[in-house]
Amino acid sequence: MSSIFLSPSIQKINSQIAASAGVELFVLRLDLMHPQVNGNKWFKLKYNLLEAEEKNFSTILTFGGAYSNHIFATAAAGNIFGFRTIGVIRGEETLPLNPTLSFAVEQGMQLIYVNRQTYRQRHTTQLQEDLKQRFGEVFIIPEGGCNQNGIRGCTEIIPNLEVFDTICLACGTATTLAGIALSLDSKQRIIGFPVLKGGEFLQQEIEILTNNYLTSGLPVPVDFPAPWQLVYDYHFGGYAKFNQELIIFCQKFIQEYNIHLDYVYTGKMFYGVMNLLQQGVFQPGKLLLIHTGGLQGNLGIISRYKLPDF
Ligand SMILES: *Cc1c(COP(=O)(O)O)cnc(C)c1O
Repeated sequence: MSSIFLSPSIQKINSQIAASAGVELFVLRLDLMHPQVNGNKWFKLKYNLLEAEEKNFSTILTFGGAYSNHIFATAAAGNIFGFRTIGVIRGEETLPLNPTLSFAVEQGMQLIYVNRQTYRQRHTTQLQEDLKQRFGEVFIIPEGGCNQNGIRGCTEIIPNLEVFDTICLACGTATTLAGIALSLDSKQRIIGFPVLKGGEFLQQEIEILTNNYLTSGLPVPVDFPAPWQLVYDYHFGGYAKFNQELIIFCQKFIQEYNIHLDYVYTGKMFYGVMNLLQQGVFQPGKLLLIHTGGLQGNLGIISRYKLPDF
């Protein structure tokens, strides 16, 4: 299943700010692994799709917002690997469909819309049973691929990277952070940047995710999660919120390093890291930033807010 993907490359960034802090800066380019099923979303889907295949399911059903990277990736992966896909979308249908959802439909995904109140029930067996009544035997993947299969895939993101002292990434559900923490050496340090306002709840969430995983019997590269911490200062007002400063930062980043960042996740994390480097917060050493992809989401933001495309 993995053979259509490029292995992730690591790019060194020649940043003056980093050099002054004695830090060598590298980017793990998960965004370049595949044009559509990219970033961390592939890792979170992998073992879910394998389980669905093993159990002879032909249909995948999952959940997401109207601009969701997970919906985008699931639709594409379903098309590639021969699953029928159903996307349960939060909120009402808006026509014409935004770029994310029109792509999903092109890939063959069937979309159904549920109001916010129903969407909130997405983890309950009641709603899942209702959906099975309506659509038959479907393999359900939670929103964002946030389950133990998702964590398992994320333990494979960083193979043999003992050379890095610190790993930074953006967090939504922190499934990716949990998987990475379960694959690194205890001498390495992980810093997560929640993109939600009020991301403090993730602290406990990550403990639950990693503890449950460690007792699940699934393969795990280490006995204890590597040390991790969360930095709450770079959510820019909350999920999918942004300001002029973030846009300008991302624009400059393309000019300087030829790396595109998304405004929902990676832009905020890269901004945060550069800002902390300037403040001299990082110890000298090797710092790896994970580019988790998500660039498709910029299309929706660019059209909604009439931003210049670049
Ligand atoms: C979904 C997503 C994340 C967040 O991943 P979690 O495992 O939910 O923390 C980060 N970056 C990008 C680009 C994403 O699409």
